[in-house]
Amino acid sequence: MQQRKHPNGKSINFNRWKTRFRGVSCMYQELKQLKYSSSHIYKGIHVVEKLKLMCVLAHPDDESLGTGGALAKYASEGVETYLVTATRGERGRIGDKRGHLDLATVGQIREAELLAAAEILGVREVQFLDYIDGDLDRADVSEAVAKIVSHIRRVQPQVVITFDANGSYGHPDHIAISQLTTAATVCAADSSYKTLNDHAAHRVSKLYQMAWTRGKFEAYQAAFKDLKFNVDEVERRATPWPDWAITTFIDTVAYAPTVWQAVQCHQSQMSIYRELQHLSDEHHRALWGAQEFYRVFSLVNGGRQRETDLFEGLR
Ligand SMILES: [Zn+2]
Repeated sequence: MQQRKHPNGKSINFNRWKTRFRGVSCMYQELKQLKYSSSHIYKGIHVVEKLKLMCVLAHPDDESLGTGGALAKYASEGVETYLVTATRGERGRIGDKRGHLDLATVGQIREAELLAAAEILGVREVQFLDYIDGDLDRADVSEAVAKIVSHIRRVQPQVVITFDANGSYGHPDHIAISQLTTAATVCAADSSYKTLNDHAAHRVSKLYQMAWTRGKFEAYQAAFKDLKFNVDEVERRATPWPDWAITTFIDTVAYAPTVWQAVQCHQSQMSIYRELQHLSDEHHRALWGAQEFYRVFSLVNGGRQRETDLFEGLR
């Protein structure tokens, strides 16, 4: 097994690393697909950029349940899709064995499930920030932001998606990754902000948060029963966004079966998803057939008209 030392002293398994990168050698061929590229004039030169989408999320399964439709749709259209996941879901349930496995073992199982789901969704690269599930809101902020900045600068996505400010249903890890990612988009664009690597500053064009409409919220409540989370003895519940606040609606109905396939890769979580297996096709379409987002900022478009494409203004 090929092992090398990372500058920070950690060992890298290059064989595993390589499996996370697919088709890099095809990148220059794909640049010809102008439809999926953004172009602009810089110092008199016509610059063509490959369209890239990056999701920065907290746990394995967030990518499928939260952004599966968008990831599947854009990957199938030729957009490069990237996933950064903060933890390996170490405190998640493993079938009926909750509490019987150590954190590292649970993390390994859930990492493998995430990589399988990402493969189905067509994700080009998966990276972990190496935090422990449940600890993210107590992570060193400057270190966590720097890690995300490094990925943003290296990949150079035009569009970044993360959780909304309420973490969908109040999960502290979801709230933390939303705040950290937002800070990272600011720092990534600032050439005076330095990280350990020497990637150039990169300005993200559009930042999005996942947002549930009332319809999506009701579909989730029906599927997962009562979505709530207790933090410091205070009960937190999922709350739908007002429909008028949704800036972006993506039709992903064609990808609903793909998303359901990706969700099922998280076999260790199926005791939580059990209800999903008995839902009608119509209910599955309600869950995975559309993705709604709140546009936190855009440097390329604006206004009240609802978007139907995360890359609106970029192509
Ligand atoms: Zn999560």
